[in-house]
Amino acid sequence: MKIKFWGVRGSIPCPGPQTVKYGGNTPCIEIRIKDTDRLLIIDAGSGIRELGNQLLSHDLSSKGSIQTEIFLTHTHWDHIMGFPFFTPIYIPDTRLKIYGPVTYEDETLEEVVGGQLSYRYFPVRQAELAAEISYIDLKEETIDLGDGIKVTTKYLNHPILCLGYRFEFNGKIVCTACDTEPFRNVFCTDPDDPSYDETMAMEGEEVAAEENRRIERFFAGADLLIHDTQYTEEEYRASKVGWGHTSFEHAIAAAKRAKVKRLALFHHEPLRTDRQIDELARKYCNPDYAGEVNVFFAREGMEIEI
Ligand SMILES: [Zn+2]
Ligand SMILES: [Zn+2]
Repeated sequence: MKIKFWGVRGSIPCPGPQTVKYGGNTPCIEIRIKDTDRLLIIDAGSGIRELGNQLLSHDLSSKGSIQTEIFLTHTHWDHIMGFPFFTPIYIPDTRLKIYGPVTYEDETLEEVVGGQLSYRYFPVRQAELAAEISYIDLKEETIDLGDGIKVTTKYLNHPILCLGYRFEFNGKIVCTACDTEPFRNVFCTDPDDPSYDETMAMEGEEVAAEENRRIERFFAGADLLIHDTQYTEEEYRASKVGWGHTSFEHAIAAAKRAKVKRLALFHHEPLRTDRQIDELARKYCNPDYAGEVNVFFAREGMEIEI
């Protein structure tokens, strides 16, 4: 499998001189599966625009049409905002399957994603698209994608339903855990608080620990894990608890326990400059800290083969 990062930034695109090295586009990852000619895309953040241009100049001329599958982790705007600018949707003969979590809202996945193509936001309407597009709702499940490719999904911990993906092909595994935050005890743990209940507090602790273990089992043994690491543990504890994102410290510790081979730190905080990321890399992407896991910061344009 060949993985290429087209967008690695969280929350909002942040182009500029301070983000040239790691990139300012929001999440989009391309997975090419050798021998099968299959192209899988994870998320349609602003990075998908440039991927679309690449498909037009290469795939369209060599294969005659573009066929691909997009796996949305969730429908927060930073993960779908690039969809109207994904040029293959305007080309006849493009066939596109869009997978994503069931929204449990009034609107379907098609309305949430395709709804960006309405005159109030954009000059082209969804009904005018030339491509053949189908939408598929996902829950926690395993799907056979054909050609020996299997995908397993797992609910993560985020303010809306959000799926982690585990793609397996020919003994190789690539996993995503984005956007997510470690599960925490939802019950009061302060004995001096009037709402404190010892049994509930203990049960809450165990439930959270078990949910975190389930996520680690989900990415166990991955050749590559792409994990949300928007914050440092210090930033997280100071003001970001409940925002739906993970710290470097937690993600690296989880990857070590799950015996992941390579860990891509992903969904970078938009305020983080290249220089600051380089500084963080000296601490976290270092065998003294990361042990046997090969930890690195995902960078726009970076390609990895597993
Ligand atoms: Zn996000
Ligand atoms: Zn999100």
